[in-house]
Amino acid sequence: MSGSYEDPPEMSTLSQVIDHEHMIKITSNFTRLGDRCYLENAGATLYPQCLLANVHEDLVSNVYMNPHTDKYTKDCIEQIRSTILKHFSTDPSQYTVIFTSGTTQALKLVVEAFQFSADIHDIKNPGSFVYLRDNHTSVLGLREIAADKNADIIHLSHEDFLAAVNTPARNYAWKDKFKGRSDTNTLLVYPAQSNFNGFKYPIDCMDNIRNGCFNSHLKKHLCKINCNWYVLLDAASFVSTNKLDLSKTQPDFVCMSFYKIFGYPTGLGALLVKNSSHDVLCQKKYFGGGTVDIVLSTEDFHVKRKHLHESLEDGTVPFLSIISLKQCFDNMHKLIPKTIYDDLMETISYHTFYLAKDLYGQLKDLQHLNGNKATVLYMDSDFTDIKKQGGTVTFNLLREDGSYIGYAEFQHMADLFNISVRTGCFCNSGSCQRHLSASNKELKDMYRAGHVCGDEVDLVDGRPTGAIRVSFGYFNTFNDVDKLITMICRCFVKTKLKQPKRIAMINNHRTIVDALKSNRLYNGITHSHKIMKEQEFFNNIHEAQDVPQVNSKIVLKEVAIFPIKSCGAFKIRSSWKIGQKGFEYDREWMIIKDNGVCLTQKQNARMCLIRPKIDLQLRTMTLHFKGRTPVAIPLDQKPHKLKESTFCHSKVCTDTVQGYDCGDEVADWISEALEISYLRLIRQSSDDNRVQKKKHDGDQKLLSLSNQAQFLLINKATVRWLGNKIHDPLFTDDIESLTDRFRGNIIIDMESELAERDWNKLIIGNHEFRVEGLCPRCQMVCINQHTGEKTVEPLRTISEQFAGKLRFGIYLSYLGPVDGSKDRYLKIHAPVKPIINDDDISR
Ligand SMILES: *Cc1c(COP(=O)(O)O)cnc(C)c1O
Repeated sequence: MSGSYEDPPEMSTLSQVIDHEHMIKITSNFTRLGDRCYLENAGATLYPQCLLANVHEDLVSNVYMNPHTDKYTKDCIEQIRSTILKHFSTDPSQYTVIFTSGTTQALKLVVEAFQFSADIHDIKNPGSFVYLRDNHTSVLGLREIAADKNADIIHLSHEDFLAAVNTPARNYAWKDKFKGRSDTNTLLVYPAQSNFNGFKYPIDCMDNIRNGCFNSHLKKHLCKINCNWYVLLDAASFVSTNKLDLSKTQPDFVCMSFYKIFGYPTGLGALLVKNSSHDVLCQKKYFGGGTVDIVLSTEDFHVKRKHLHESLEDGTVPFLSIISLKQCFDNMHKLIPKTIYDDLMETISYHTFYLAKDLYGQLKDLQHLNGNKATVLYMDSDFTDIKKQGGTVTFNLLREDGSYIGYAEFQHMADLFNISVRTGCFCNSGSCQRHLSASNKELKDMYRAGHVCGDEVDLVDGRPTGAIRVSFGYFNTFNDVDKLITMICRCFVKTKLKQPKRIAMINNHRTIVDALKSNRLYNGITHSHKIMKEQEFFNNIHEAQDVPQVNSKIVLKEVAIFPIKSCGAFKIRSSWKIGQKGFEYDREWMIIKDNGVCLTQKQNARMCLIRPKIDLQLRTMTLHFKGRTPVAIPLDQKPHKLKESTFCHSKVCTDTVQGYDCGDEVADWISEALEISYLRLIRQSSDDNRVQKKKHDGDQKLLSLSNQAQFLLINKATVRWLGNKIHDPLFTDDIESLTDRFRGNIIIDMESELAERDWNKLIIGNHEFRVEGLCPRCQMVCINQHTGEKTVEPLRTISEQFAGKLRFGIYLSYLGPVDGSKDRYLKIHAPVKPIINDDDISR
């Protein structure tokens, strides 16, 4: 590789290396994204739409059979093995392709088959398994297999690893001394590119490793050093946006997943084995169809096939997926111009690098108005050298006072803006730990405090448990960088935004403001001085107008039910019956899509515009929607007349819900109102007894389709308090519509705000309720329930006021009538009596 593209000529506002016209052609293959800004390329890249057409065309015009049956299919597969090798600048004389289900299976296969020692019982020469701590979690699990095979397990720190590979092996002597090969082997696993932050580890050091640059480490662990070194390169992250040249760098084993390169197909990966190293993969136990030359079913006799891939690929390979790889390669070559070194992957590499570099630069400079920095970056390179860095940026955000913003809070805002990023530890606990400077003890303490991988506990004692990862693919443009920065400034960092100077060769590029508009967020940007002024003005107004009612008593102001999950409220005028699962008819129906999955306001904000009205005299529920004739369904539909259906309801997929379909008329009405085909209205069947998750004192409460608890209580005083804290001049909700966003069943009013957070139980009228905890909030509260429009508030202010804990309102469950009466009706304006029990420490 010669020359450098460090400062290429400015090309367009979309990409540093791909011209405008080609970039438009590329993005036109991802129109299914709509408004979504996809910045999660490291998790999975996206397939271009034209690829599907090509795959479809291939499959409908050819007859492919089991490759064990059909020579043609087998030949196609062999052809694709060489295409893969060609992609990595090598050929079948050097490397062999073994198809696997993905990177993880490839990693497992190597360690299972790897011969650490010729004699597994030789405890003096067990061989070693050496791994970098900053590997993907899938690698960490390999130590269990290696340990079973008696290998010594050794892990290397990021710093030690880099120091060793950058220092030439000191001691070649052992090689001569032992003449020829020793019979213990050491397997080293490390990633070519970190999935945590895109750092590229050196891969031009294979000879140095084979010559023993890590031997001093083995010595430190009292391991034998007269061993042969083998390298298993985890290239899953690297090959997705980089050129891996196996003619120059020759690891013994390389693994990858194809969905990270092409987006499609999933469930297919490969292990590339250097032919000269293949004899060390001889300990695989299992054999399956196609991997043996002979096997006897009644006697322990079998002979594995001689070809390496034939002996390692058990069963029938996923031949249709493999065949689609041909279209994947062809398609990429057609779609993406080779502007760098006349090479496809180099072009992608530079394109994504410059996007990430731009974001990195902007984040690094990002400051609050008080001059404090707004970001903490978790990088191992500063984007000065493309050999050390891929198209990924990992960071956390800080508030004006220097405290951390939790990644879960960031995730909610990103969801609201339709931006896909990854938050948490991204399956790389080693890197996460190193960058967040947490000790093993602290991690265990966090675990004991209730934090587990993949949960929403983003801060423990104010310290982050994870981070935000942004990763770019070839389909991303600078517009995506701008969208993300705009979102960050809009939600977290009030600052004077300097728009990056990119030379606009074409004048129809979309600006930041356009990007914002396309998110359909009607609140303006609050980073200009003018708006800051307006804010002060509005603060004063808020203080003047909102005088809380002086009212020493607590009263039940309102009762609302939401007959159809995620649709509009039905507000009760006088009283309503409490049933077994909460209020009668509350969330008893739901709308499902044709794939059986429940539709929610998160996917379709217009759902709140469907207003159900229940008439107990006529025994009907009527659905209203602006501009449409209402439709009515009977409340007492006989279940046996209806088609029974089982469906899966998000969050509670582990317990599928039994329900009854409510018929075609209402289904069509809903589909037309929401403009989505094939929707169905489902009623939860009365014998489906979902149980509240959190068990209290052993008794279990039945639940309707509401997510967590039977009732949700909202205190209007707390809503007023929150309203006063919202300083966004364009947030125009009055207290009523702000209250409605929280979709409470029981709305109370009183003098003091936030008091409800300390209650353990309460009595409303004659009925006793137990408090089950605070209600976690998501971007749903950002949908104005009267218009269906999305805003940034009130989630932003909730998060600011409660230090990132997005909680508002309290969950209740029903304990029963207090006076022993059978009265099941809750009456509006009934007095509310809270019970605070200080010795209950469970909350
Ligand atoms: C994605 C990834 C893996 C795991 O790949 P799977 O497809 O989940 O098996 C392993 N290592 C790295 C570096 C990765 O990026």
